[in-house]
Amino acid sequence: MDNSRFADQLRRGCEALGVGVGEDVPERLYRLMGELLKWNAKVNLTAITAPEEVLEKHFLDSLAVLPEVEGATSVLDVGAGAGFPGLPLKMARSGLAVTMVDAVGKKVGYLKAVVTVPGLGLGGTKAVHTRAEGRPEAEGLPRADRVLARAFMDLPDWLDLAPAYLVPGGHVVAMLGKAMGEEALREEAGKRGLELVSARAYRLPFSQAERQVAAFKKQAE
Ligand code: SAM
Repeated sequence: MDNSRFADQLRRGCEALGVGVGEDVPERLYRLMGELLKWNAKVNLTAITAPEEVLEKHFLDSLAVLPEVEGATSVLDVGAGAGFPGLPLKMARSGLAVTMVDAVGKKVGYLKAVVTVPGLGLGGTKAVHTRAEGRPEAEGLPRADRVLARAFMDLPDWLDLAPAYLVPGGHVVAMLGKAMGEEALREEAGKRGLELVSARAYRLPFSQAERQVAAFKKQAE
């Protein structure tokens, strides 16, 4: 896929998802895809390698959570793997302080390298090699006002772990493959002293794959 077809598809996908990105973001994502596929030939980072799929399943799927991140100043992406959703979010919202954490050294090696590539607009993004176990200070991880993860843990385990990384007033964001009813989300939240802030079901624009994103905050905040 050439750069202009990629940019066109990306813009159409963002429009369908209702998220806005700057003019230069498609071009920078195209270059990020080049870095990802180049590294992936040496280091196993992702099984998704067809450009159409990288565009939708990695990039658009990451950008789809922009509404849950608007207004935030800091994001912690736990189990970021090859940088999803953290890298596309940083590209789309340059003012966000993004920290990505992963337990696998070679993935973090890629992340540390890619954030320094000139022109990608990823400067200042941090990548930390550690196991996230809910002890931010001991793990060298910052607290953030949006703590999110994709394809990392099932919802109950995620809601047990993630609140430890919140600053007061922050939100835990859960990206779910299959939509859950709001009552079930509220119940899982309530068991852990959390409150459901929002829940939104949608489909990815080209494959129509089902997705849901839910945000939670600590009760009495
Ligand atoms: N979020 C990325 C995505 O959606 O493409 C990667 C998802 S991958 C299925 C899960 C990632 O979580 C892996 O890269 C794995 O190394 C990492 N991981 C698993 N347990 C972890 C932990 N306790 N702390 C940090 N990373 C962890």
